Amino acid sequence: MLHLVVSGKLPLACQRCLEAVPFDLDVDSLLELIPEGAELSQDELEDDSRDFLPVVRELDVLELVEDEILLSLPVAPRHEKCGLPGAANAGERINPFAKLAGLKGKPN
Ligand SMILES: [Zn+2]
Repeated sequence: MLHLVVSGKLPLACQRCLEAVPFDLDVDSLLELIPEGAELSQDELEDDSRDFLPVVRELDVLELVEDEILLSLPVAPRHEKCGLPGAANAGERINPFAKLAGLKGKPN
């Protein structure tokens, strides 16, 4: 078993205003090391409470820590309230598909 704990504060880029969003990193994983290619039973595969980590000879700890951090990051970090850079209507939701609506029904 390998217990991996990583914590800290990361500044992520807000997907709307591009300013920094503070993110509390809190990785706490219990991994069961198994040999690469080992057969897992159906029960083990379906058990969501267990995490198996296949290892080929040596474990690359740095890569493992990096992967676990990347997995824990939000896909699209955003402030709860903010606007597009320079936009007067800060906070309002912009529909990225609004322009597409005008194209509907037009022949190619
Ligand atoms: Zn923002």
